[in-house]
Amino acid sequence: MTRESTPHAPALSEPLLTTLRTRTPQLWLNPSLGRPLPDDAPCVDAIEQAQARFERFAPLLAALFPELNDTHGRIESALMRADALRARGTHPEDAGTCFIKRDDALPVAGSIKARGGFHEVLAFAEQVAIEHGVYTPGDSTLLLRSETARTLFARHTVTVGSTGNLGLSIGVMAAALGFDAVVHMSRDAKEWKKARLRSRGVRVVEHDGDYALAVAAGREQALATPGCHFVDDERSELLFFGYAAAAQPLAQQLAQAGRIVDAGHPLFVYIPCGVGGAPGGIAYGLKALYGKHVHCFFAEPVASPCMLVQLAAPESAWLSVYDVGLDNRTEADGLAVGEASHLVGPLMRSLLSGVFTVTDEQLFADLLAVKTALGIDLEPSAVAALGGPAWLMQTAEGEAYRQAHAPACVDPTHIVWATGGSLVPPIEHQRFQMHARKLAGDH
Ligand SMILES: *Cc1c(COP(=O)(O)O)cnc(C)c1O
Repeated sequence: MTRESTPHAPALSEPLLTTLRTRTPQLWLNPSLGRPLPDDAPCVDAIEQAQARFERFAPLLAALFPELNDTHGRIESALMRADALRARGTHPEDAGTCFIKRDDALPVAGSIKARGGFHEVLAFAEQVAIEHGVYTPGDSTLLLRSETARTLFARHTVTVGSTGNLGLSIGVMAAALGFDAVVHMSRDAKEWKKARLRSRGVRVVEHDGDYALAVAAGREQALATPGCHFVDDERSELLFFGYAAAAQPLAQQLAQAGRIVDAGHPLFVYIPCGVGGAPGGIAYGLKALYGKHVHCFFAEPVASPCMLVQLAAPESAWLSVYDVGLDNRTEADGLAVGEASHLVGPLMRSLLSGVFTVTDEQLFADLLAVKTALGIDLEPSAVAALGGPAWLMQTAEGEAYRQAHAPACVDPTHIVWATGGSLVPPIEHQRFQMHARKLAGDH
């Protein structure tokens, strides 16, 4: 991606610029919510196709990964009641029912990236196998474990650029199927992530510079290599629809929990946002199911509010956080993205309710709160959305939003999406918590 230094920033209003530049946490409401999707928006049928692909591949995944035995190859996470957070004030009393969506515990990849990443690798494997006649649609996907299929896959490379979790997800799945897997990472990506990938036979290439540079390097190398598939986190529809496939199982979980979704019982969903693929795909899937009764908000670090600046600027401006004078430096490595996806941004202009921002100090405080109240170990990126219910239920901006878009609301459901953490080594979790305690003591 280009790192233009031309100041586009005047495209934003003065008060908004000041709030952004002073890194003041805010709830920004999207004025374009509800307008029609762009003409070239991808078709919702692709959501069902992604769901069907996960179904088809479940037997193969169960055979490849012992940890998927219990779920018969399904990659899903629990929807957990989170009333315990009330004690801390994160979730206000009488503000409806609050859940945490436990994508931090998604099997095999340990983060939300399992959804999009696995979907794209499986789609690529399927395509290669069909092209070379080792698999015909309708066959059992267990065929893709055969010696013939693996030999074929070994001649193909799957490449991705990532700050960490996407690399883990793509690398692990690609290597398990027998592909040559290459992950381009920024040099400051966590050491344990690189080590884990290398231990699975994945080649890790390190780059100086930020996430966008790692992606650009991967894209360039892939284009120059025949038989190489590049998973493009900034543009991929296969990733996007893998995430969107989360909506239907979530709807079942809500129904099982006895939560209906309608005008009187709106659904508020809060999701951490990096480049926008994961939260954008999920929002797209949920909107297709629930329409105006679901309200999706993204959470971004105050140093990296790339979706906020893209949506707040005129469509043609393509603002990055650097353009408004921010440095994109945050402990939330999964969210340290300077410029939002050009695939997802235009869709979110119509579908997204708003974005709230969070400081690193708050991330660590919330990390500790979740550990104390619920016993869950999350990584900093994964707690970014925790303040969502309070933003919506306890602030003037939140009230303005509800009056405008959910006027009949009597008993809302809130879902805070937790996005990663279960594969983080215990020593790293201890470090996070020590840092959080230190920050708390300093105040
Ligand atoms: C990648 C990631 C996100 C955000 O996903 P994007 O597709 O980059 O917006 C959120 N949380 C964690 C832990 C992640 O790794």
